[in-house]
Amino acid sequence: MSGFDVAALRREFPILVPGLHYLDNAATAQTPRAVLDALIAHETTHRANVLRGVYRLAEEATAAYHAARVELAGYVNARDPNEVVFTSGTTGAINLVAHGFGAALKPGDEIVISVLEHHSNIVPWQLLRDRAGVVLKALPVTLDGRIELAELPRLIGPRTRLVAVTHASNVTGAVTDVATVVAAARSVGAPVLLDGAQMAPHGPLDVQALGVDFYAFSGHKMFAPNGVGVLWGRAEVLAAMAPFQGGGEMIRRVTLARTEYADPPHRFEAGTPPIAQAVALAAAARWVRGLPAEAVHAHLRRLTERLLDGLAARGRVRVIGPTGLQGRLATVSFAVARVHPHDVCQILDARGVALRGGHHCAQPLMDALDLAGTARASLAPYNDDGDIDAFFAGLDDVLRRFP
Ligand code: PLP
Repeated sequence: MSGFDVAALRREFPILVPGLHYLDNAATAQTPRAVLDALIAHETTHRANVLRGVYRLAEEATAAYHAARVELAGYVNARDPNEVVFTSGTTGAINLVAHGFGAALKPGDEIVISVLEHHSNIVPWQLLRDRAGVVLKALPVTLDGRIELAELPRLIGPRTRLVAVTHASNVTGAVTDVATVVAAARSVGAPVLLDGAQMAPHGPLDVQALGVDFYAFSGHKMFAPNGVGVLWGRAEVLAAMAPFQGGGEMIRRVTLARTEYADPPHRFEAGTPPIAQAVALAAAARWVRGLPAEAVHAHLRRLTERLLDGLAARGRVRVIGPTGLQGRLATVSFAVARVHPHDVCQILDARGVALRGGHHCAQPLMDALDLAGTARASLAPYNDDGDIDAFFAGLDDVLRRFP
C-alpha cells in the first residue's frame, strides 16, 4: 500500500485530469494549487520591483523576495541566505559558475565532468575551454548508466580546479555517490559543483553534509513555475567570484570609469530578478517539505519496482540504467528493440500517457551507450498505479504494432 492518500495528492494538481498519465516529471513537474495560489497572491497583492522602491508595495515585494531566499536557504541547509543566488534555472546557475568561477582559471587548468551530464553541465564548460584554454576531462559511464567513479584517481590531479557532475542522471536515474566525488576532489583541493536538477525535487538537501561548493537546481522540476532556479554557493567561494552579467542591482557604486560590485548574492543577480517565481519556488519548497517523506519514498520505490519488473518481463525491452532499486531515482529509461523512442511516445500519447523520448539533452551519454535515444518514464509523488497500468497497456500496444 502507498501509506498516503495519492488520490488526495492528485487533486492538489489542477492539470491532472482523468485520462492524463503524466510521466515526464524529469523534464518538468506539475504545479500544485498551493504554489499557484502563492504565485497569484504575490502578483495580486505585493507586485512591485525589488531592492529599489521605498514605497509600501516595493518594500513588501522586497520582503517577500528575501523571505523566498531564506526559505530556499533552509531547503538546502545553507549556512546563510546570502549563499542562495536566484537564477533562471539550472542552466543559468551553471553558466554563472562557468563565467564567475571560470574567470579566475588559467590555460591548462582542468575541469572534470562526466559523460552522462546533461548538456547544461557540458556546454558551459566547453565555452569556458574555448574562452580560457582550460582542459575538459570527462569521467566515463558504466554499463548500467552510472558515472564510473573508479576513474576519478586517473582524471583528477594537481591541475584540477573544479569537479562538476550531476547529483542524479536525468536519463538513467542513477544517483551519484557524492562522498566519493568530494573525497577525490578534496584530495587535490578542488571544489565540487553538483547539478541537482533531478535531485532537488525529492526533498530538502543538506549542502553542508554533502560537502560540496556549488549546488544548482531548477524551479520547474520542483513543482514551481519556469524561469527561476537556484545556485547555492559556499560563501567564501561566491565572495571570490567575478560577476557574470552586469546591470542594475549587482553594484555598490558605478562611475563612468569603473564599477564596484555588490556582495553576493546580489553581485550575481543583475537586473530585475524573477520575483514572483522565487516566491512560488519558496512555496514549492514548503510544499515538498510538507509531504510525508517516508511514505512518498516507499510509494515511488514501489511504482519504480513495478516499472522495472514490467519492463524486464517484456523480452524486447532493455532498461538503460540501473535495473535494481539501489541508488536510483524513479526515472527509468528503456529501449525497445527495432522501435524508435519517438514511435513509443506517440503510441503512448494516443492513450494519454506523456512520456519523453529522445536523447534527453545527453548526447555524449547516448554516444557512449551507442543509442540514438531512449524512451523515459519519470515519476513524481502524484503518479499512481493507474499511470503505470496505462503505461504498460500502451507499451504492449507498441510491441503489437511493431512485431
Ligand atoms: N541538468 C539536469 C540533470 C537536467 O535534467 C536538466 C533539465 O532537464 C538540466 C540540467 C537543465 O535544467 P533547466 O533547463 O531547467 O535549466
